[in-house]
Amino acid sequence: MPIDWSPLAAILEKHERFLVTTHVRPDGDALGSEVGMAGLLRAKGKDVRVVNSSRTPPRYDFLDEDGTLFRHFGGDVQASDLADREVLVILDLSAWSQLGDMVDFVRSFPGPRVVIDHHVSQDDLGATFLKDVTAEATGTLVARAARALQVPITPSMANGLLTAIAMDTGWFRHPNTRPSTLREVADLVESGAEIHLIYQRIFERNTLGRLRLMGEMLAGLRTALEGRVSYATITREDLSRNGAIPQDTEDLVDYTVSVEGVEVGLLFIEQARGGVKVSLRSRNGLDVARVAAVFGGGGHKAAAGATLPEPLESAVAAVLAAVRQALETSV
Ligand code: 5GP
Ligand code: MN
Repeated sequence: MPIDWSPLAAILEKHERFLVTTHVRPDGDALGSEVGMAGLLRAKGKDVRVVNSSRTPPRYDFLDEDGTLFRHFGGDVQASDLADREVLVILDLSAWSQLGDMVDFVRSFPGPRVVIDHHVSQDDLGATFLKDVTAEATGTLVARAARALQVPITPSMANGLLTAIAMDTGWFRHPNTRPSTLREVADLVESGAEIHLIYQRIFERNTLGRLRLMGEMLAGLRTALEGRVSYATITREDLSRNGAIPQDTEDLVDYTVSVEGVEVGLLFIEQARGGVKVSLRSRNGLDVARVAAVFGGGGHKAAAGATLPEPLESAVAAVLAAVRQALETSV
C-alpha cells in the first residue's frame, strides 16, 4: 500500500515553521524517525523544532550528539514557546493517549497536523494520515517520504532511520522483517548509517542499574494459563532499589515471550504518576493490540501496550483475564 506523499508536498509548499513530535516513552522508531524527518524538513529549507512529551532515554542520546535536537515539553520548552509553529508533524502514533502531556497542546494546535505512522489502532486526531500499517517501522515511511520528495539522505538521517527500523524489527528478527526491510537497510548503510556503532550505542552501554533490574525481573518471571503466558512485574521500589530509571525497562518484555512454549508475554510496570503500564507481546498470531484495546491501549498485532489506572495486583489479574479470554476465543 504505497502512500501518496502529495499532501505532504503540498504542505511543504505553503509553510515554513514545523514542529515534530512523537509518542510518550519514545523508542528507537519514534526518535530515529524524528531525526530523519527533521533532516528532510531542513533539507527543504524549513525551520524545525522537535519537541517530545517525554525526555530522551539515555540509550538514544547518540541520535542527538550535540543535545540540540530533542526538546522536552514542559521541561526546556513550554507551549508558549511554540506559538509560531505552523505545522505539526506527529510520528509513530495514532492515538490521543500516546501524546502524554502534549495532548491538550495538540488538540488546540491551530495549523495543519500530519501523522506519519504504521500502527493499527487509530483515533481521529484531526490530521492528514500518511499511514501504512504494513510498514515495519515509521522510519521506513520517513525514508520513503525523503525519496518521494527527492531529499538526499544524509549520514545522520541514515543513522536515525536505521535505528528506527532496527528497533521495530527487533534487529531484523521479528516476522515484520522482509526482503524490502533489508534492501532499505542496505540503502541506509550506503547513505552512511553505521550499523555496528548504532548497535554498540544502544546495547553495549547498559547501566549497572538496568542490568540489576533485569536480573531481578528475570528471577521473578512467572507463568500462567497453563504455561501459555509468561509475565513479570516492575515496581517503583524495584527501580529505586536497583538504581534504575523508568527508561531502563525498554525491551525487557522481550524476555517474557522468550520462554519456551509461551504464546503471550506481559511486563507490568508501575508508573510514577500512578497506574500500571502493561506491555504485551505475542507469538503464534494472537492479536494483542485487541487485548490492549480492552484497556484503552493499542499498538500492533504482535506488540501492544496499555496503561491501567489501578494498583499492580489488580492490573495483573485484569490483563491475565483478558488474555485468557482472547486465547480461548481465538483458534
Ligand atoms: P511498548 O509495550 O513497547 O510500550 O509498546 C508496544 C507497541 O504498542 C508500540 O508500538 C507502542 O507504540 C504501542 N503502545 C504502547 N502503549 C500504548 C497505548 O497505551 N496506546 C496505544 N494506542 N498504543 C500503545
Ligand atoms: Mn513504530
